[in-house]
Formats: sequence, C-alpha cells, structure tokens
Amino acid sequence: QARGLDKKAFHKFAGKLKPETRNFIDGKFVDAKKGRKFETINPATGEVIASVARSDAADVDAAVKAARKAFKSGVWSKMAPRDRMTVIYKFAKLIEENALQFALLDTTDMGKPISEMLNIDIPGAVMTFNYFGETVDKIEGQVTATASSEFHYILRQPLGVVGCIVPWNYPLMMASWKVAPALAAGNSVILKPAEQSPLSGALMAKLFMEAGGPAGVFNVIQGLGEEAGKALALHMDVDKIGFTGSTEVGKLMMVYAGQSNMKRVTTECGGKTPQIVTGDVPDLDTAVQYAVNGIYGNQGEVCNAGSRLIVDQKIHDEFVDLFLKKAKASFNPGDPLDPATTMGPLVTKEQQKRVLSYIDIGKKEGAKLALGGGRPKGFDAGCYVSPTLFTGVKNEMRIAKEEIFGPVTGVIPYKKLEDAIAIANDSIYGLAASIWTSDVSNAHKAARDIEAGIVWVNCFDHGDMTSIWGGFKQSGMGRDKCLETLTTVTQTKSVWMHLG
Ligand code: NAD
Repeated sequence: QARGLDKKAFHKFAGKLKPETRNFIDGKFVDAKKGRKFETINPATGEVIASVARSDAADVDAAVKAARKAFKSGVWSKMAPRDRMTVIYKFAKLIEENALQFALLDTTDMGKPISEMLNIDIPGAVMTFNYFGETVDKIEGQVTATASSEFHYILRQPLGVVGCIVPWNYPLMMASWKVAPALAAGNSVILKPAEQSPLSGALMAKLFMEAGGPAGVFNVIQGLGEEAGKALALHMDVDKIGFTGSTEVGKLMMVYAGQSNMKRVTTECGGKTPQIVTGDVPDLDTAVQYAVNGIYGNQGEVCNAGSRLIVDQKIHDEFVDLFLKKAKASFNPGDPLDPATTMGPLVTKEQQKRVLSYIDIGKKEGAKLALGGGRPKGFDAGCYVSPTLFTGVKNEMRIAKEEIFGPVTGVIPYKKLEDAIAIANDSIYGLAASIWTSDVSNAHKAARDIEAGIVWVNCFDHGDMTSIWGGFKQSGMGRDKCLETLTTVTQTKSVWMHLG
C-alpha cells in the first residue's frame, strides 16, 4: 500500500505521526525515571520531531531486571519452539503491515529516501525475522560417542539477557539483525537504538507484544550512548552485547565487558570497502553503475560503502568518465519523503560537518576533486552533501584510510593485480570487498587473498540471509545474518552421565 503513495501523501502522513518516545520495559511504555529527554531532529528540515526518554543507569537496571525475570520464568526461553516460532512469524507480518509507519519514522529521523525504506530496510527486517523464526526448532545439541558405561550430550542454550546496541544508518534493519537471532534462541533482549534514530525501536517493541510476545522479553531503552549505552554494556547482569556501530565504540564494548562481568561481545564496525575493477572487467558499464550505487546509496552512510575504487590504469579514464555520467544521472539530493528521491540528507549537522571536513582534507592531500565536493544548492536547511568523487587518490591519504561515512569516494589506479590486492588489504578494516574480472583464476585468487568478511565477484552488495555479515580486522568480530549468528547468542553445555 505504502509503495503506491506520492510525495504529498507521505508528507500528509508524516505530519500526523505521533511517535512513541518512552522506554519500553516489562511490556509497558515508561518515562525515564528522572524525566529527562533529548530531541530527535529531522535532518532534511532541521525541525525537532520529538523529545525522547533520556535514560540512565537506573532505567537500564529496571530493563535488565525485567528481562532477567522474563528469562528465568521460562515464559519465552522455555516456550515450545513452534509457539515461539509462531510469535516471531506474526511479528514479521506486523512489521510488514506497519511498513508505512516504519518508513516515515526512520526517514524523518535519519534522512534516508523513503523508497529505500520501502524497498530495502523493511523487506530486509521482515526477512530477518522470518529467517530466524525458521531456525527456532533447528537449534540443536549433540550426542557424542562414548564408552557404553557413559552417556554424553551437549545442550545449546540461550545466554539469558542480550543487549543490542545499534547505529542510526539502518535503524529498523540493524535492530532486526541483532534482535531476531537473540529472540529466536530464547533470550530476552534490551534494544538501545541510536540517539539519532530512536523512534522505530519503540514501534518494534509494541508490535512484538501484539504478536503475542510475553512482557519483559523485548525491552527498549532510549538515550545517549555515553549514558544509556554505556550503562547497558557495563551492567553486571547482561550476558551479551551485540553491537553495531563505529570501531571506536566497538572497542569500548570490549573494555566495558572486561570492566564488568566478562559478558560476551560481538561487534560489527566500520569499513573502507575496496572495489577492484580490472582491465578485463566483463561489462564496464555494469561495474561502474554498481560503483556509483555502492557509494551514494543511503548517502554513503553504509558500513560497506565502496569508498575505495581500485581501478586498472588501462581503463582508468573510461571508468571515470562513465562514473561521472552515471553518478549525475542516478543520485541527486532531494526531499527524502519524495519516492523519486535517491539521496537524502546526512543524519545530523555534525555528520555533515565531518564529511565536508574530509572533502577539505582530500583537497589538501592533493587528490583531484572530480565531482561534487560541497553542499548542494537549494538545500540549506538540511544536512546535505553532494555526491563526491576524488581521482588521483593514493592509499596513504587519510581519505583512503579513514571511514568517512558519507557520499565520498576516490579512484586509486593500479598496474598489477597483486598491487590492487595489496592496496585493498592495506587497511585497518576488512568488512567487504569486490572484484570485477573475467579471469576465473584471478577471481578465485582475489577472493582467497582479500582480507574481508565478504568478497563479491562481478557484483556488489549482493546476498541474502544465508551469506555471513561480519568483519576481518577492526571491522569487528561476530557474524550477523546466517546460521553462524546463532552461535553468538547461545552457549553450549556438556552433560556427562555415568550409566553404571
Ligand atoms: P556509534 O559507534 O557512534 O554508535 C553506535 C551505537 O553505540 C549507538 O546506539 C550509540 O548510542 C552507542 N554508543 C555510542 N557511544 C557509546 C558508549 N560509550 N557506550 C555504549 N554505547 C555507545 O556509531 P554510529 O555513528 O551510530 O554508526 C555509524 C558506524 O556504524 C559506522 O562506523 C559504520 O561503519 C558502523 N556500521 C557497521 C555495520 C556493520 O555491519 N559492520 C552496519 C552499520 C553501521
């Protein structure tokens, strides 16, 4: 239904939004104990959307107590698997049925085009809950071979209380990636949305209850990272933190775990994704379109944004010409509530400033600005940055080393494939990579040798729930999507019985 609406209709519905702004603890919406609030701002207009509960350690403690109580009661953790599955499927269906609300909430909160919400984030979230719903009765233990006097089996059990700390770039979808496997395995969860995009988390929790989820199993704590997030990660009765966000804060999660109860930590952090385009690329036109989409989609606020284009110098000029044409044709800043818009504002003024400062750094480092490089005209109220391309980039430059997290990429020319792979690997990050080539041996060699959690061959950002999502090096540890994720929200126990 929502997919057929026009800009006017989306604005009309957005004007009527009354987002829930309180915490969700033990099945009820409650204000932060001290009554404090923070504002969430629409980055397209600069207007305040809502004032949201600003939680502290006392609120976190209440949520942890509720989650622990629910876990211990067995109301979810010991629910018959088929029943738990039914609730998760129903939850997925309710997310789909509330697509318009989710799309409006996340788009107004963080600025992404509403068409991306409807075509990527919401289907992605629904698929995530359906996929992990399917796994509920397939989380299995093991019986091992023993002497006939013994009997040994291994139980796979939920961890208990899982904190999910998520970023603002895909608010609903990142929350789903963390929450769905934890719930499927029988844990209770506490979701801490990013303070830049808090609103869709509350709707998720409400719909989980509507789907038949018991009180206390899905809690939401709103607030700032330094306050609410830190209190959750330091809490002595949280068994795991599933974190997605920056590498800097991901490292803090490990520190907090060490300072508290040695809780399990998984981290999905930053990236500086290389796309190697070889001289024998099967179809340059397609490769360039993927390169354009791979950096300007979601305004470049993507962990695996293709922010290093490592291009064979033989095809360099042709690549750049085509890139400029396609970028101008495909990505133009616009009103994110217009379904025709492909590029919205960045999430906040600070993020806009940060990205613009990297553009200055690139110029000072001697890279050549080939496209964009500033704020687009006519969008002064919003946090927009024009699609930007640098050429003549060297991998030592800061614009090639550091995660910019905006619509800025650079072309790094290379001569030999070994050099291209070495450049790709010369990074503290290792989330994703791609290679475009017709040479099957080179494709396999690159896939083997590139240090990244996922390598795409002749495509970019393809995949489904079966492909793993997680980093090498400082892109983090842990895996999202895929069955392997279930090992990060469960623990194993040996039961050894002497039969006499
Ligand atoms: P961020 O690290 O600033 O914040 C992420 C979350 O951590 C937020 O909820 C925030 O409130 C919380 N937080 C911040 N400081 C905290 C602290 N001291 N203690 C506890 N919690 C704290 O990241 P961001 O700016 O929201 O998101 C952008 C980053 O996320 C980028 O680096 C991007 O690459 C990364 N990301 C990675 C993936 C992935 O799958 N690898 C996916 C999406 C985004």
